[in-house]
Amino acid sequence: MKEAKGYAAREAGGNLSEFKFERRDLRPEDVDIEIKYCGICHSDIHQVNNDWGGATFPMVPGHEIVGIVKEVGEKVTMFKPGDRVGVGCMVDSCGRCEPCRRGLQQYCENGATFTYNSKDRVYGGVTYGGYSNNIVVTEKFVLKISNKLDFAATAPLLCAGITTYSPLKHWNVKPGQTVGVAGLGGLGHMAVKLAKSMGANVVVLTTSEKKGEEALRLGANRVIISRNTEEMKKNKISMDLIIDTIPAPHDMNLYLSLLKINGNMILVGLPEKESQYSVSAGTFVNGRRSLAGSNIGGIEETQEMLDYCAKHNIVSDIELIPMSRVNEAYVRTINSDVKYRFVLDMSTL
Ligand code: NAP
Ligand code: ZN
Repeated sequence: MKEAKGYAAREAGGNLSEFKFERRDLRPEDVDIEIKYCGICHSDIHQVNNDWGGATFPMVPGHEIVGIVKEVGEKVTMFKPGDRVGVGCMVDSCGRCEPCRRGLQQYCENGATFTYNSKDRVYGGVTYGGYSNNIVVTEKFVLKISNKLDFAATAPLLCAGITTYSPLKHWNVKPGQTVGVAGLGGLGHMAVKLAKSMGANVVVLTTSEKKGEEALRLGANRVIISRNTEEMKKNKISMDLIIDTIPAPHDMNLYLSLLKINGNMILVGLPEKESQYSVSAGTFVNGRRSLAGSNIGGIEETQEMLDYCAKHNIVSDIELIPMSRVNEAYVRTINSDVKYRFVLDMSTL
């Protein structure tokens, strides 16, 4: 086993602090990565707070990882020491079930192994994430990162990027369509950039009046203050697709009523386990609307997204911070006070 160091939460809702642990020895198909930067996703906060249940402690969060390959196992063919690579939300899956065979590892019927707070399918122990100095990952779950992309600003693509790219592709966004983005945070600002790059007319639905100007700078065509019910009502039947990134329960009927005929609203925001949504039947029936959900994206699609971003020069807008400011960053993220993703600089560990 190899010594590693990082930051961990010791209990639900607890602060993160220094933590020493071990990573597995390199297996023939493994890549050992020195982590350079790791984004802070709102999912990290949900997990540390045990909002979704099943949290195990100590927990080392972090699934927006970029770094440099240090060493590779003897059977590794796609990577060599010195390569710029990324690791997202998953580090393994069964590889045999139908979703895995279709490249939809995130929906593995036997349970994907997530980058942290997940059972390691080989060793049985718990996985530790990217708020740390290194990670060992089987090469199938390692992604290539172009030299063209700013490295720190690329980290959030590994979750916020793919989680918004995947539904935009799946629901086939076309030039001229109107895409609503609910919540202008880490995921939301990537949804704006990606939808814009696909030719959509982008409308941001935000609770924060002060984010209006920023949303336009990021590429949005228009902004609606979602707390203003009258303004929401004025915009009913105007959108083809809505990507809903809101991490807390909210009035679904109000957002669904913005959809045009055949419109789709896609939930990616994932509030606490107990949260329930209530939707009136008429909202769906009048207008043949749909409500769906989407979970990150498969490994091949994540590589496709990274290559797409390199081609279109798309990265995240970040605030780069030292590891010692992680707890403060959690509070600011909860208060929607981040432009638009915190990224931890691992050289400060
Ligand atoms: P974030 O950076 O905190 O952004 C969320 C944004 O939602 C906030 O900036 C705020 O935007 C808005 N918001 C927050 N609380 C709200 C409320 N009570 N009512 C209405 N709007 C509210 O979070 P994130 O990292 O983008 O993650 C968003 C959600 O997606 C989380 O639940 C996370 O766990 C989930 N997630 C899901 C997947 C997946 O695969 N499905 C992947 C990653 C993350 P405004 O200030 O503009 O209103
Ligand atoms: Zn995430």
